[in-house]
Amino acid sequence: MMMTRKVALLFFVLIFSSVTIVWATNPLLKKAVVTAENMEPSYQFPAQIEEANVKLAKLYKKTGKRPNILIMLVDDMGWGDPGSFGGGAAIGAPTPHIDKLASEGLKLTSTYAQPTCSPTRATMMTGRLPIHHGIYRPPMYGEPGGLDGEITSAQLLSEAGYLTALVGKWHLGELPAQQPQNLGYDEFFGFLAVSDMYTDWRDPAFSPEIANRPEVLQAFENAPFNKNLVQAHKGEKLEELVKITIPVLANLDQKFADYTVDFIQRMAKEDQPFFAVHAFSKVHYDNYPADGYAGKSPSGYPYKDGIIEVDDIVGRLIKTLHETGQAENTLVFFTSDNGPEEDNFPDSGHTPFRGAKGTTWEGGVRVPGIAWWPGMIKAGRTSDGLFDLADLFTTSLAVAGAKDKVPTDRYIDGIDQNSFLLADDGESNRRTVFYFFQDKLAALRIHNIKFNNYLFISENPAKAAKSNTFLQKASYVWAHDLSIDPKERFPAITGHTPRFTWAVPMMTQEVVRYLGNLRKYPPKKSKVMMLK
Ligand code: CA
Repeated sequence: MMMTRKVALLFFVLIFSSVTIVWATNPLLKKAVVTAENMEPSYQFPAQIEEANVKLAKLYKKTGKRPNILIMLVDDMGWGDPGSFGGGAAIGAPTPHIDKLASEGLKLTSTYAQPTCSPTRATMMTGRLPIHHGIYRPPMYGEPGGLDGEITSAQLLSEAGYLTALVGKWHLGELPAQQPQNLGYDEFFGFLAVSDMYTDWRDPAFSPEIANRPEVLQAFENAPFNKNLVQAHKGEKLEELVKITIPVLANLDQKFADYTVDFIQRMAKEDQPFFAVHAFSKVHYDNYPADGYAGKSPSGYPYKDGIIEVDDIVGRLIKTLHETGQAENTLVFFTSDNGPEEDNFPDSGHTPFRGAKGTTWEGGVRVPGIAWWPGMIKAGRTSDGLFDLADLFTTSLAVAGAKDKVPTDRYIDGIDQNSFLLADDGESNRRTVFYFFQDKLAALRIHNIKFNNYLFISENPAKAAKSNTFLQKASYVWAHDLSIDPKERFPAITGHTPRFTWAVPMMTQEVVRYLGNLRKYPPKKSKVMMLK
């Protein structure tokens, strides 16, 4: 009897202590630090910050100039398209150059974009989520909406002595004040909107009701939006180079690549560092193969030929960095602006996650992410640490030694992740990813747990910020452990089943905190019509 009681006591002690250990070491319970009132709280790891600072200081001493930053942004490429993310040859388009980039750098498996193009681009350039920058969906066919009143990384890096370029797709407004050369870019070569806006109505295969009727076609030709390949230098008026017809569109990415190659070559001779965004036109539908690319992929489909072309261009740009001796002084970040478009099969990409472009399921917003920097980022690393593309804003400024330029008069969602990227065993500094569907908070992810609000908890964020109405509906949140349920198929409905109820307080605290910020930093109104 005595023995049984001792065993029971020991059992109790063991259980209790293991729960305590699990509780104490649970990554969900890590505390994020508030570094400034207008900035997202972040995890701070002093040792990795020190390691990153030492690396940056050594490089600066060696080169005498701040590092270059090159962001390669593919349009609509799925998380699962590159071979290094599980696609490649297995799905009809090998991607040896992207795979090499991943194997030589840091593969980020939890990189997050917004559900569509323009919101992501604005977030990347301003460090702010759509609720703050006000671009909730892409402006189409001359609709208003752009980066009005926002401050871009290009502007701040320009002030810090950088030479800046935007090559390729913009899609952040067409009015002069919204154009890249007036928002911090020294050079702009590309187009103002999105590829299908120039050609969809020209192609009788997609739009016979327009393309086969000259008078209707002419009405589209006259529609008030810019249909040209354009270029401009800082502060100058836009120069129109050529109308984007189908054969022009097919070869645009080659033109963009030629431009960026030339830019990188020119920059090698400059004393100033550069910041360049190479924004591909492909693989957004409609994909028309460039000269020499039709049927080049094993699949033979235009989308896959587009993947081959994008991959070749990644190879060309990296080769140019090596040839010009700038590879070791350039941070390269490769990513996509949203999940694959699945409504346009077979002109569509691949994701292993649930949903696709336009949704806040993982498939809509989780994108491939690769950070590459020979000698600075340890080769062959993979991390599932959270990285929001808003972080590129803050991280770029930190790497450039210009962190003091981060604005203090507005809310900054981007977190400085430079120590995550640069320290050999760096951990993500980000606690939470917030998923917005237009202006509605649709989900959040803390560590590996994602809470989906399938009723859109905060129907009206401004109202929700005042009343915290989401709390009244917290029992309708679906929780998924993404590490065992990446397709978000098996929800535990918090409040109704025992699973994940322990995580609810963390979720609610984060939502209360974030929506609370909206009282001081109110949501920005959309310039385009929104779904109610
Ligand atoms: Ca896109």
